[in-house]
Amino acid sequence: MGGSCIVECPSRGHRERSRLQRRPEKALCLALKGSWSASGDYDLPISVEKCIYDPKSKDDGVRVLVMRFWPRGIKKGKVDLWYREVGTSKDLIKAWKAGEITWREFRKQYIADLKDEGKQKIIRELAERARTQKISLLCGCHEPETCHRTILKEQIEKV
Ligand SMILES: [Zn+2]
Repeated sequence: MGGSCIVECPSRGHRERSRLQRRPEKALCLALKGSWSASGDYDLPISVEKCIYDPKSKDDGVRVLVMRFWPRGIKKGKVDLWYREVGTSKDLIKAWKAGEITWREFRKQYIADLKDEGKQKIIRELAERARTQKISLLCGCHEPETCHRTILKEQIEKV
């Protein structure tokens, strides 16, 4: 531990000094706006702050829609990628919205749904992408705390 190394930043084509850490494959240019966590791991630059209805900005990086259905009134240009497969299942979102299940139950079920091989592949793809670019996970919910995109972000970071 300790010391520093030079890390090539793939997105900007320049080199930046960055701390040596436990998972060197995750070391990235600091300009990507990721951050070092207290444990010494690099947190990938994945934002869940915005909802699809918020205005688009340059800081968003690659805008990834993670809803099963295309949101009403949203133009194609507001989204760079659409991974509908990692959206919430119809029954699960229905049960959550009707107040039939707690957030903890929702979370457990959504994570179980993500075990599917096709969904795991998408998670790995997003993790790979987040190592070179900032990405924003977008959904129609205004509150990221109670949206599956926050759980999805955690799963991507575990890859
Ligand atoms: Zn949502």
